[in-house]
Amino acid sequence: MDCIFCKIVAGEIPADIVYQDEDVIAFRDINPVAPTHLLIIPKKHISSLAHLSEAGSSLIGDMVKIANQLAKMEGIAEGGYRLVINCGKQGGQLVPHLHMHLLGGRQLSNALG
Ligand code: AMP
Repeated sequence: MDCIFCKIVAGEIPADIVYQDEDVIAFRDINPVAPTHLLIIPKKHISSLAHLSEAGSSLIGDMVKIANQLAKMEGIAEGGYRLVINCGKQGGQLVPHLHMHLLGGRQLSNALG
């Protein structure tokens, strides 16, 4: 499958990996929009939030737990941070492999759209 994030999971293209376990991997965004900008993704290819199965809610729960741990490791937990999952074209999703953005390290805008 020609998926850039699957290639990162497979080690076929480099990434600055900050965490991994059996199911999830996290790495630094190549085009960061904040001092901390990490992507937390399932190792298994799931195209988007809209493609999650029933079992997917525990995966999302695990991803949030990992994001919270990474926020502490990055030193942004106290100051505050944002988790974002874009879904589909109008949701602003560019890479069709489910991913959660962890953003922090500066004052983020209140604008959501
Ligand atoms: P989204 O718009 O939610 O699909 O976000 C996709 C994100 O993936 C963007 O913030 C990109 O900068 C990031 N990205 C794309 N390719 C890579 C890569 N090879 N390594 C790290 N981050 C990437």
